[in-house]
Amino acid sequence: MGTRQAHRATGGWWLAYLTAGVLVIVAYYVSVEVRALPVVRVVLYCAVSASAALAVLVGCLYNLPPGRARLPWLVLGCSQVVYAVADVFFYVSHNILDDNEFPAPADSLYLAHYPLVVVGLLLLIRRRTPGHDRAGLLDAATVAVAATMLSWLYLIEPSAQGSSSALVKIFSGLYPVMDLLMFAVALRLLLGPGRRPGSFVLLSVNLLAILTADTVYVIQQLDGTYQTGNALDAIWLCGNLALGAAALHPTAGKVAERASEDDARLTPFRLFLLAAAALIAPATLFVQHALGSLRDIPVIAAACAILFILTIGRLAGLVADQRLLAITDVLTGLRTRRFFSTQLPMEIARARRAGTNVAVLIVDVDHFKSVNDRYGHPAGDRVLVEVARRLRDSVRHADFLARYGGEEFALVVPDASPQELASIGERLRTEIASSPFLVSPEVWIAVTVSVGTAGYPWHGSTPSELITAADRALYAAKSQGRDRVVVGDVSLPAKLVLPAGRPVPEPTSELLAYLQRVADEVDGWLSGSEHGRAVGRWSALVAATLGEDEALVRRVELAGRLHDVGKVCIPEDIWRKPGALSKHERQLVEQHPDYGFQMVRVVPGLADVADAVRQHHERVDGQGYPLGLAGQEISLEARIIAVCDSWAAMRADRPYHAAKPAEEACEELLRGKGGQFDSAVVDVFLELHRQDRLGELRKLGQQAGALLTP
Ligand code: GH3
Ligand code: MG
Ligand code: MG
Repeated sequence: MGTRQAHRATGGWWLAYLTAGVLVIVAYYVSVEVRALPVVRVVLYCAVSASAALAVLVGCLYNLPPGRARLPWLVLGCSQVVYAVADVFFYVSHNILDDNEFPAPADSLYLAHYPLVVVGLLLLIRRRTPGHDRAGLLDAATVAVAATMLSWLYLIEPSAQGSSSALVKIFSGLYPVMDLLMFAVALRLLLGPGRRPGSFVLLSVNLLAILTADTVYVIQQLDGTYQTGNALDAIWLCGNLALGAAALHPTAGKVAERASEDDARLTPFRLFLLAAAALIAPATLFVQHALGSLRDIPVIAAACAILFILTIGRLAGLVADQRLLAITDVLTGLRTRRFFSTQLPMEIARARRAGTNVAVLIVDVDHFKSVNDRYGHPAGDRVLVEVARRLRDSVRHADFLARYGGEEFALVVPDASPQELASIGERLRTEIASSPFLVSPEVWIAVTVSVGTAGYPWHGSTPSELITAADRALYAAKSQGRDRVVVGDVSLPAKLVLPAGRPVPEPTSELLAYLQRVADEVDGWLSGSEHGRAVGRWSALVAATLGEDEALVRRVELAGRLHDVGKVCIPEDIWRKPGALSKHERQLVEQHPDYGFQMVRVVPGLADVADAVRQHHERVDGQGYPLGLAGQEISLEARIIAVCDSWAAMRADRPYHAAKPAEEACEELLRGKGGQFDSAVVDVFLELHRQDRLGELRKLGQQAGALLTP
């Protein structure tokens, strides 16, 4: 309210101020023409520059909202105060005291006003520019370098020539240097992004006028033609008036407003300016050559090189911007599906090399079509933007989020454990469901998402396998009622295919035969001798010796035969690895009982066998995996298989160890009694061994290798 009133109060002041100022300037020239008393001329001249300082300070108080927007103008006002005081010194000594000494105290003040202008402009630029605007910086630098070269050749270096004292040379050289500094910063402001209201135009006029007059002044000083009261004074005075009017202009507050992000475009004017700046160095050489006076070649060559580097830098920035645009979704600002498709294979390859894993999550907004239908497409868009924002806020820096389709998002999480597949999905789901979304003024709606997840290497080893698995899980989440997370199911790897021409096995017996062959196949990976077959045989013998019924004996025989079938879901190289396994490889290996469980469970009537397969790495002391069951919680079948499995493993040559002699294997079983193994089972097993009823491991038959494609 207060600002609006202030606005009205200063609404027309800037014009009144300008008009009055122009009249004073006219009066000044009349006083010069009629040779009025010097004091009259000095008063008229200094009245203008002092009024500009006053106008800026008045503008700050009455025309600008309190706060940080005022600061740049206050600093510019201070610079004008210093400038006005310098004018008083200069014109009093020149016109009244007739003291034309150079440098004089006025020169120190004039030079001191430049840094203040520069700081004021930098503060304005900082407030107007969103981000860093590297492009604007490079453009300003390009023009400034060209100007520096010209200034050096035609102003600074000539000032340093001649027989004048060092002090004179230093001060004459400092003016162009300060002007250059101011020029560079002014360029940054003029070329940078942001609104250009009336006040901005007046400020630009001020900067251009001062820079022009200063430059001409140095030239006139060099050829001795400068005199107070000539046309230059008019340019300086008009520049001062423009600054005062800029601060009084009703739009002064808008000059410090932040520009929108997409404001920095490469306009035809800017392109022309950059081309002209870049060509100045070679053009100068050409002119010097034409005039037959080549000089300062190192300076021109250096300018050429710097301009070239700046141009390359600008080009690199443009290419990077274009690339970013190409992989950024316009609506949500997330990465595009295209980028996702190039990134996922790279993440999988990295995980394969490092022996780690990768999770893929697909997030789909539930019933999104009805949001569009009920509230309109723009409201739907707002929901998508907000979903994207919430997802982005709940993922880690290393994770990689993309808009996968219309209302589908995809997330890649490197190095996620199997348990995290569900927990990350759950975090995303709750983040969306936790609070309502604003679709139109005052209308809030609940939005939910369904999430499907899959991980390398558990659910696939290629991008398409992983995406298919996550997609299937998403489909399951949708059909189970939406607003939930489903982790991909274990499926046989794609490389495990049926021999050509054979129908997919349907009946139980065929499915079973198929699993048995897969089990043989896996055994073939580990050694040339049987494993599952022997474990099945021995387990049946142990169960029968323990006096168990026929059904359990058959069950344990089958479970023993199939106990390692889940290993087929884990990359073969891990099983063949001779050295120690990494943490992640071990995690992976420990999944095989679960995989086996899921595979066997598919066969009708084999639920108990599947349970035994799942539990065959449990230990009676509760230290086993994957469930950590203890004692009688572990099925008898699994406890029997555990002993037979260990025996078979110890007695065979494996990539990571040689076969142990029978005595050592016996000791090992005894050591594990009551800890790793069920004591009664160990006793029976060792007794069977003593009676020589177990027999040796047999070589694997030729059937292995028929199922897996190379
Ligand atoms: P479900 O719970 O099964 O996922 O149902 P749904 O309605 O979300 O799924 P469906 O695939 O039938 O509809 C997706 C809708 O998303 C259809 C399409 O018009 C809309 N959509 C896709 N892209 C955009 C977009 O950029 N903006 C808006 N507003 N809508 C979009
Ligand atoms: Mg969809
Ligand atoms: Mg949907």
